[in-house]
Amino acid sequence: MKKLVVLGGGESGVGTALLGKEKGYSVFVSDKGTIKEKYKQVLIHNEIEWEDETHTVDKILEADLVMKSPGIPDKVVLVNKIRKKGIQVVSEIEFASMYTNATIVGITGSNGKTTTASLTHHILEQELEVGLAGNIGDSFAKQVLEENHPNYVLEISSFQLDDIMKFKPHIAVITNITPDHLDRYDYKFENYIKSKFRIAENQTKEDYLIYDADNEVIVNHLKRSPVQSTLLPFSIEKKIENGAYLDNDNIILTVDNKQFIMPTANLALEGKHNIKNAMAASTVAHLLKIRKQTIRESLENFQGVEHRLENVLKINKVQYINDSKATNVNATYYALESMDAPTVWIVGGVDKGNSYEELFPFVNEKVKAIICLGVDNEKLIKTFGNMVDIIVETQFMSEAVKIAYKIADSGDNVLLSPACASFDLFENYEDRGRQFKNAVRNL
Ligand code: ADP
Repeated sequence: MKKLVVLGGGESGVGTALLGKEKGYSVFVSDKGTIKEKYKQVLIHNEIEWEDETHTVDKILEADLVMKSPGIPDKVVLVNKIRKKGIQVVSEIEFASMYTNATIVGITGSNGKTTTASLTHHILEQELEVGLAGNIGDSFAKQVLEENHPNYVLEISSFQLDDIMKFKPHIAVITNITPDHLDRYDYKFENYIKSKFRIAENQTKEDYLIYDADNEVIVNHLKRSPVQSTLLPFSIEKKIENGAYLDNDNIILTVDNKQFIMPTANLALEGKHNIKNAMAASTVAHLLKIRKQTIRESLENFQGVEHRLENVLKINKVQYINDSKATNVNATYYALESMDAPTVWIVGGVDKGNSYEELFPFVNEKVKAIICLGVDNEKLIKTFGNMVDIIVETQFMSEAVKIAYKIADSGDNVLLSPACASFDLFENYEDRGRQFKNAVRNL
């Protein structure tokens, strides 16, 4: 019996363990941290051997194959030892893809993955049997085991691409590339870019790569390192012959000489970035032969994704907006850009070496007050102190929302778009977003 060692007992790890067992491996799950109770129960119930709070190195080094969960950096000593011994290390995406012939749409990028993957899935599911997995909801491995749909939309992070070998989406999407997670890439942006582009490395010209042609990082990389894939770019700045572009508030999409036109006014999601996400999603749908009418209707009735420019409530004609998922400056850029009224902006958290310059024009133009919500707000106050009349700080969400309520006038927006990670005051961005919504509802 071949031995599969699974490093990490989270969603990817447990999914892989279940699939591995089903496929005849003897499976051992090892996690240096604490495995969550719900996952422990699954492992116990399925009689899969596991350990947590430690790695039994000797046992791990007996593996024929190792699946490394995306959260584990490549540089940890154990992973080095495994590689040195010549044991193959794969990611969960790679492992799961060995056991399905499904048509795969793989979506990666620095921002917009979840929105674009959810939107794409929403359109496709109107006419196809299609699963949504990866960095969103269930692991791909679990889905392959339990559902085995003929089509999949996968949200894929750069970490999940790092250990692929043969994985190949028929349609790949790179939403955009901006600096993020550089700590995992030796602080070299180039390494992070290469990692994102691995989504196309096994593609041939029968496969497609859909990407943002306004993103110079992507365009320059493609010039330096061309891919085999058929390219279908999208742009809101220039005309695109094959792909999607914006013409007088209409999305014009051309694929194989067939055209699709959609007025942006009909899109359910607001903001320029969401025009791009809609372009990417409808290009995928077009390639998979979804009817134009279905694409149009689905773009119109998509409900959006929680914590991404989510309209929470209107109180005294003030719109409260939850964009807690904006954990970097680029995401906040699009949030501020899409504000159509004077805005009270709640910002802050764990700074990832942020440079805020690109936000200055929007802050000058639209932001009437800033509420800094973080343990350390010094940089924000230094950067924006002279730009707005009111800048205050707090370490409590309920207080931040109460202050915003006092400052905002009829017709204004109150926007939580932190541009920072959440771990100083919150469990994660979901917790931050939920606390915001609760505080708003309690006003
Ligand atoms: P990801 O899954 O890549 O983190 P999300 O769809 O969860 O992306 O969105 C993360 C943040 O980025 C949200 O604040 C959202 O409003 C913003 N965002 C969504 N799409 C884009 C895009 N195409 N470009 C830039 N920011 C975006």
